[in-house]
Amino acid sequence: MGGQKLAQDIRRVLVERGDPGYERARAGTGWTQITPPRYPDVIVSVGSVDDVREAVALARSRGLTIAVRAGGHSWGGSPPRDGGMLIDLSRLRRHTVDDGSATVEPGVTCHDLTRALAARDHAFPVAHRGSVALSGLVLGGGLGWNSRAWGPACAGLEAIEAVTATGETIRCSEHENPDLLWAARGGGPGFFAAVTSFRLGLRHLPPAIMTTRYVFPLADIEDVASWTDEIAAAVPANVELSVALTTAERDADDGSPPPRVVVVTATAFSCAWSDAIRCLEPLRDCPFAGRALVRQIDQPTPFTVLFTGSDALWPAGRRAGADSLWVNDGLAAVLPAIARHVEGAPSAESVVVASPAPGGPARAPVPDMAFSPLGRIHIGCYAMWQDRSADGANLAWLHETVAAAEPLAAGHYVAEADLAAEPCRARRSFTAAAWDRLQSLRTRYDPDGVFETYPQP
Ligand SMILES: Cc1cc2nc3c(=O)[nH]c(=O)nc-3n(C[C@H](O)[C@H](O)[C@H](O)COP(=O)(O)OP(=O)(O)OC[C@H]3O[C@@H](n4cnc5c(N)ncnc54)[C@H](O)[C@@H]3O)c2cc1C
Repeated sequence: MGGQKLAQDIRRVLVERGDPGYERARAGTGWTQITPPRYPDVIVSVGSVDDVREAVALARSRGLTIAVRAGGHSWGGSPPRDGGMLIDLSRLRRHTVDDGSATVEPGVTCHDLTRALAARDHAFPVAHRGSVALSGLVLGGGLGWNSRAWGPACAGLEAIEAVTATGETIRCSEHENPDLLWAARGGGPGFFAAVTSFRLGLRHLPPAIMTTRYVFPLADIEDVASWTDEIAAAVPANVELSVALTTAERDADDGSPPPRVVVVTATAFSCAWSDAIRCLEPLRDCPFAGRALVRQIDQPTPFTVLFTGSDALWPAGRRAGADSLWVNDGLAAVLPAIARHVEGAPSAESVVVASPAPGGPARAPVPDMAFSPLGRIHIGCYAMWQDRSADGANLAWLHETVAAAEPLAAGHYVAEADLAAEPCRARRSFTAAAWDRLQSLRTRYDPDGVFETYPQP
């Protein structure tokens, strides 16, 4: 098929800079309301794997670099780059579930998959917010629900199909092209092919999911952080623990600002309600429970309820930015310095969430993967606000808050780090060996640099 014929076939799903639908297509690429000031030459919203192949061939014939978008939940808006072609895979939303595994196309969201799996008593370590696409989640590593017991989402990636820089479709599994599968398990937004399908190994849906939650005034952070360090050591791996520093919902109408708070949440993913209650036992007797503003013990929380809670924590339609750190010190060492910044956050919607790193999948060897959890605790810092004129203040807050914990940082999580903050951010998201292997695989699979690499400052 000649280049001109290709260009004609793909034109039905392509907009170029200057076309009437261009700005709508560009602005629609991200979850946050901040559209980066970067302008691809061409945006192709593909409807099939053939379209992806044709788009790659067209990009090559025109000398365009390629960036890829799936669910659009990159905090920093990594998909649109300046110049080149943006291939939007979000319309590819088919999924099938067989015994023990699911095959999903890139546009399938965590919500879509969880709903399909629940009907068959299966589950997967999906992202905390249901709207995130499995695609970027798995490629980035995936700190999903129950990751301490199930492992990161990418540990469940069994196979992919991808269109490479030569325009060829290849299959990658433990037996075919295992190197590319290794890179797809956590290589992040510098992955050098367009993945068109993911085969995911599934878990049994735990019949008893139960949550205990305390809300304290932020002024109690030192006691809360020390207590949570003790709890983290006491609860089993099937308890997901998180500490969120944020602002309480307003409940009084006396005009006073809602208080800044620290929220400790523990969710047990158990085989039975009695087991869930036993797993949450270490949280029952908090020595300073009397200071809690809210105390909810042993609440049943199926995935639908977990997603509703996360939707409230990360509300849609916001201007937003995020950054992330791994630390090895305990929460007591790192959270008080961050709390001082949360106290003065310009937006009441911003939140910092600390949670223990994912573990290995239970009763299975951890697969070889690019994903590099570089510390015992992940700290995600999320600035969210609504007023465009407050962009500068909120982004400055984000940078200052992360800087407060930076001296303790062991690295970054590639899927949530502000990679454009400094040139070494992407490298500091991997072990040295994983980084070197990613670079050499890129040279092998994409020697001409057809696919964009990690965002840079
Ligand atoms: C509200 C919110 C909640 C989140 N919660 C979590 C969470 O609980 N756990 C967690 O680990 N992360 C979480 N994230 C981060 C999220 O996992 C990453 O931003 C992820 O990259 C989003 O995937 P996406 O496909 O939706 O994003 P996109 O913006 O479409 O993609 C991000 C990048 O991934 C690459 N990419 C995506 N799909 C493909 C593909 N098929 N082929 C090749 N490259 C591809 C591209 O480089 C692209 O630039 C959250 C993000 C948001 C905004």
